[in-house]
Amino acid sequence: MMNVSVKQAYGLFINGEWEQTERTMAVLDKYSLSEAAAISVAEQQHVARAVESAHAAQKSPFSPNERYKVLMRVAQLLQEQREQFAALLVSEVGKPIREARGEVDRAIQTMIISAEEAKRIHGEGVPVEAAQGSENRMAFTIRVPVGVIAAITPFNVPLNLVCHKICPALAAGNSVVLKPSEVTPLVALRLAELFHQAGLPKGRLNVLTGDGAEIGTWLLDNPKVRMFSFTGSVRVGEIIRRQAGIRKVALELGNNSATIVHKDCDLDQAAELIAMKSFNNSGQVCISVQRVYVHEDVLPLFLEKLKARTERLVVGNPLEEATDIGPMISVREAERVESWVHEAVEQGAELVLGGERSGAFYRPTILTQVQPSMKVCSQEVFGPVVAVDTYSEMDEVIAKVNDSEYGLQAGLFTNDLKFAMKAAKEIEVGGLIINDGSAYRVDHMPYGGVKNSGTGKEGPVYAIEEMTEERIIVMNL
Ligand code: NAD
Repeated sequence: MMNVSVKQAYGLFINGEWEQTERTMAVLDKYSLSEAAAISVAEQQHVARAVESAHAAQKSPFSPNERYKVLMRVAQLLQEQREQFAALLVSEVGKPIREARGEVDRAIQTMIISAEEAKRIHGEGVPVEAAQGSENRMAFTIRVPVGVIAAITPFNVPLNLVCHKICPALAAGNSVVLKPSEVTPLVALRLAELFHQAGLPKGRLNVLTGDGAEIGTWLLDNPKVRMFSFTGSVRVGEIIRRQAGIRKVALELGNNSATIVHKDCDLDQAAELIAMKSFNNSGQVCISVQRVYVHEDVLPLFLEKLKARTERLVVGNPLEEATDIGPMISVREAERVESWVHEAVEQGAELVLGGERSGAFYRPTILTQVQPSMKVCSQEVFGPVVAVDTYSEMDEVIAKVNDSEYGLQAGLFTNDLKFAMKAAKEIEVGGLIINDGSAYRVDHMPYGGVKNSGTGKEGPVYAIEEMTEERIIVMNL
């Protein structure tokens, strides 16, 4: 395994070259809280040059077959360096090693799927000759790249979520300026190195690190950026939406995901999957199970099973194979979650399990007797906390799930087909996962939310559609 304790200074990646800056920022190892690396902090001139190089690269040919080959080569390199990338994820995110390996494997998949899609970008025939006076014409559409895409990504899944942006963007023939999270930027910088090794033409991928608000503003002010593909909080998503004007915007935002446990389901399966999907990555997953609605007939039994299953989760050093739960991203975030749980308890919630913090660690926490107005229900916790509520009627629980400003994904455990199909039609989300928790995603499926959870879909084939424009060609014969 790579030694990640050696402090390294990372530069910016602009026009195929690494550039160090005077201003730097520390990236912490999230378990030891010691400095793991220093990153460069981009100034306005770096942002301008990165966009310029992306814009210039856009003019050089980069055929679909070449795009396919580069992406496949990077996938191969990533496979070869799987353990090093996983170790870096453990260090900069604090996620357990088994989960980190899983993220690398998924990133490889995202890359391979994008490579394959590079060969399948096509338009369609349009029967314009059907219109009176157009009998001698023929038409078809082609899909052309949008141009320079700014990709801005969050801290929690810093490899695969970066891949979900840059791989489809490159596959579709665009150039990218990537701004990874300043808290977890290292895997993105390592990935840029792999693209460089794999022969990606200069300027097609640029990586800028530093202050999110500064770089964001400079990118938004630059008219050569034609699209913003953003994953992160609603707060920043709204800024981008407001300032992007008529340019394309894809937003993958937050959620306070609900999962329903109906009385007819397999309660052991539900408890097992919910324990996993509430606390993975310390709950710092956008589709993490946060609100659980359990049918009143099975509430005590389900709570008992969920508690027993959760108690078996191993909290500890994320580098150890046995660990299920590592630290949260920062002490501050753990303190915020602690204060929300504390507030809920003061307002009448009952603590079934957890509620303890030690530094950046927050133990898996189960609350019940919750009210919809409590922050742990109404807002996105983004921490290892699950709020269990109850219901008696289907319409009632669907209304409870929909009583949210968000709508990314929801889960439903039931064997009642009628209920499942009613929920499919009435629950306001981008995806409903039946007989599983809300946190299910494979990388080729369409993924994206409704309401404040965002706009636009990810999954390479869907992202490519957003990252290309349809152009019609009409021939007068
Ligand atoms: P964040 O919004 O704080 O930061 C995301 C990115 O935006 C970072 O790179 C940051 O530097 C940058 N940024 C900050 N200010 C900016 C500005 N003014 N202009 C442009 N960019 C700016 O989010 P986070 O804390 O890193 O991640 C957590 C959030 O991400 C949660 O809300 C979570 O639900 C969401 N998320 C959503 C998905 C999804 O697919 N829907 C996936 C993962 C995370």
